[in-house]
Amino acid sequence: MTTNAELQKLRESAVPRGVSNMLPVFTARASGAEQWDVDGKRYIDFAAGIAVLNTGHLHPTVKAAVTAQLENFSHTCFQVTQYESYVRLADKLNKLAPGPTPKKTLFVTTGAEAVENAVKIARAHTKRTAVIAFSGGFHGRTMYAMGLTGKVAPYKIGFGPMPGEIYHLPFPAEYLGIPQSCSLHALETLFKADVEPSRVAAIIIEPVQGEGGFYAAPVEFLRELRRICTEHGIVLIADEVQTGFARTGKMFAIEHAGVEPDLMTVAKSLAGGFPLAGVIGKAEIMDSPAPGGLGGTYAGSPISCAAGLAVLEVIEKENLCARANSIGGLMKQRLNGLRSKGLTCVGDVRGLGAMIALELVKNGDASQPDPDLTKALVQKAAANGLLILSCGTRANVIRFLVPLTASDALVSEGMDVLERSLLELAGAVKEAKRA
Ligand code: PMP
Repeated sequence: MTTNAELQKLRESAVPRGVSNMLPVFTARASGAEQWDVDGKRYIDFAAGIAVLNTGHLHPTVKAAVTAQLENFSHTCFQVTQYESYVRLADKLNKLAPGPTPKKTLFVTTGAEAVENAVKIARAHTKRTAVIAFSGGFHGRTMYAMGLTGKVAPYKIGFGPMPGEIYHLPFPAEYLGIPQSCSLHALETLFKADVEPSRVAAIIIEPVQGEGGFYAAPVEFLRELRRICTEHGIVLIADEVQTGFARTGKMFAIEHAGVEPDLMTVAKSLAGGFPLAGVIGKAEIMDSPAPGGLGGTYAGSPISCAAGLAVLEVIEKENLCARANSIGGLMKQRLNGLRSKGLTCVGDVRGLGAMIALELVKNGDASQPDPDLTKALVQKAAANGLLILSCGTRANVIRFLVPLTASDALVSEGMDVLERSLLELAGAVKEAKRA
């Protein structure tokens, strides 16, 4: 078989640098929470294809559903002839979505597309134009979703002008010194200085910021946003693309706040590795765009809808919400234990369910982020056989997104590798200081 090194060479000549790669590694096969590369090296997978594999690589139930669908047909385009899996999955999601208001669901293909469509639906419903998002938020790479994304480098550089009528508020993150009162004050100021509430179509928020650093919005803050949106007729959009499908110990993260959003964007773990995204929302709002205003050639592919139905079955049968909580408990315990090993780089350990983060700083000081150590740890862990991802507006957060189907033994083995990798890096720093 062709080696990693040979494929890397080909990649560099064939693929633009704008698509960056974490590792010069090419996957040969994967199963559950493990991967093997083309050189035969094994990795424990705590990246899960960026939060896509809550049910693991090729879960047997998902694989069987997709295989069965492939025996029948792979594509018709839902706008041409319909198929049962699309409407069954929509119906299931409508019932799972939080809150008592009747819901409807639209399927598309990517998270960014879900966000684009949520904004279109909110605009059609309110007949307003402005949208408010949060700094550090990530909503995708298409033009409007990129505009909503609250981080300039690397997502916006060179791609302007940005779409109009987007305003950003500071995301409440205590660890970064941003209390929720600061975010609420910024919203009040925005309404006075820049845009009147009656011109705002939507506020979009990740209940736990993903790419931004795994900061959870306080539940009181989400409730206050709900109150403000209701008062002014603004559509509240919960972006659950990264937080959805049992990751945080509930089906959707917004449930922790007991808030019913008007619209929810979903993708990633919805279909266990097959491209599928959706907007789930209050039926009356979802029906605002006229026939033909929504859709897409591949939107809600029959293969992906079959996978999505299987994923929901696995989440329920294998109790993955409860499993997320127990995996999260195990990981937090191990991460908190790192401090007692003299690792002063451990700034913060946090998370909801199994959406766990380790924030790396210098000398335990929150105001001294350590992005270099974070970068080095991702590489060192991979060399030692563990795939982890970094994130955060300060690029100093390690995020853990282990498949919720992983055994305790595999999670512990991964945490052993993480600990060893951090200790090796800390040892190397000490050696360098002595020399
Ligand atoms: N919203 C959130 C919260 C995300 O985390 C992401 C992807 N990281 C997106 C939207 C965009 O999803 P996609 O990459 O599928 O377009």
